[in-house]
Amino acid sequence: MKILSVNAGSSSLKFTLIEMPAQEVIASGLFEKIGLEGSFYTIKYNGEKITKESELTDHAVAVKVLMDELVNLNIISSLSDIEGVGHRIVHGGQEFSSSVVLNEEILNRISKYNDLAPLHNPANIMGVRAFMEVLPGVIQVGVFDTAFHTTMAATEYLYPVPYEWYEKYQVRKYGFHGTSHRFINKTISEYLKRDDLKVISCHIGNGGSITAIDSGKVVDTSMGFTPLAGIMMGTRSGDIDASILEFMNKQTSASISELTNELNKKSGLLGISGVSSDSRDVEAAAEEGNERAILAQEIYARKIANYIAMYNNLLGGADVICLTAGVGENSKTMRKMIIDRIASLGVELDEEKNDFRGEFRLISTDNSKIPVYVVPTNEELMIAIDTMELSDK
Ligand code: ADP
Repeated sequence: MKILSVNAGSSSLKFTLIEMPAQEVIASGLFEKIGLEGSFYTIKYNGEKITKESELTDHAVAVKVLMDELVNLNIISSLSDIEGVGHRIVHGGQEFSSSVVLNEEILNRISKYNDLAPLHNPANIMGVRAFMEVLPGVIQVGVFDTAFHTTMAATEYLYPVPYEWYEKYQVRKYGFHGTSHRFINKTISEYLKRDDLKVISCHIGNGGSITAIDSGKVVDTSMGFTPLAGIMMGTRSGDIDASILEFMNKQTSASISELTNELNKKSGLLGISGVSSDSRDVEAAAEEGNERAILAQEIYARKIANYIAMYNNLLGGADVICLTAGVGENSKTMRKMIIDRIASLGVELDEEKNDFRGEFRLISTDNSKIPVYVVPTNEELMIAIDTMELSDK
């Protein structure tokens, strides 16, 4: 069966058409600047890539254009070839602990969490409605970034703040990247043929989070109430002292919301290096001796290493450490910097095995107390798997 895996943003729509259960990607693409001037789309299929400008006034129009193109390019013979659509939905609050079949009632329940993810959830829901209109009768499934983390206990998800903040306003740790961490856990558990693994899953991309998993259940994760928390990222600060906001507000008269925007978009690798949020650029600058780039890399690696050490303690000793996403899959330099900084755990990198990018591989030595694997993530596939499974029910 052909399943569309969809990630709708406020002005974009990313899709992957996957043949299931064979897990073969048939086509993929991106619609950009939806509702803005200069909208266009790209579709990749059969080793070809087409890019076209098109007036995409809203998501519904983009979805109609996508359907027409899939038929015109002979990627599908008719719309009835598509038997399921899986949607990435960022926030499911405490309520959605697994993927669900979407209908009006469920969409209304998901909308309750719009305030918790104002940039993402309304756009995700807009995408769902657009597909419901064009493909009536086709199962639509919601796959939440937060769902995998709902197994956390109050000892992990509560912040030590006045309890009413949680009771009245739902201020707690939710965690994100759950679909990626779940895919990593599933992949490594199947590979090692164990369902009782203690896994430290490190999703290190432009955004980044680390998750401690025991026997398939999340114990703790580094992102928090929002994706701003945890490790240092491409443009996000990760954990900082909350008092800095009031102090900077008084110093600069920038508002709390402007400052929060700086913590999300102007901090992290970009903030420290002043060069870029892209780890490739920072690496290149560091190699040329740029001191702030060197410092940015050092802080980045240490924050990640410290979270791994903390989660190793929380898990009572991890069985395996997995590195994934843009940096984790591709940057041998950053992998080495991180692993060198968890030497106290008895973890040891095999530099020869580490000399590669973008595939599943063990990169630690035989002596390493905890094996370290690079596991390429695939959130689109995880969404397609959930959609297929729910369509069988
Ligand atoms: P997102 O969070 O946007 O999904 P990705 O997982 O795609 O991000 O990760 C993007 C990051 O991966 C960027 O910082 C990029 O520099 C890094 N990256 C991608 N390829 C390489 C590479 N070959 N070497 C080093 N870093 C890389």
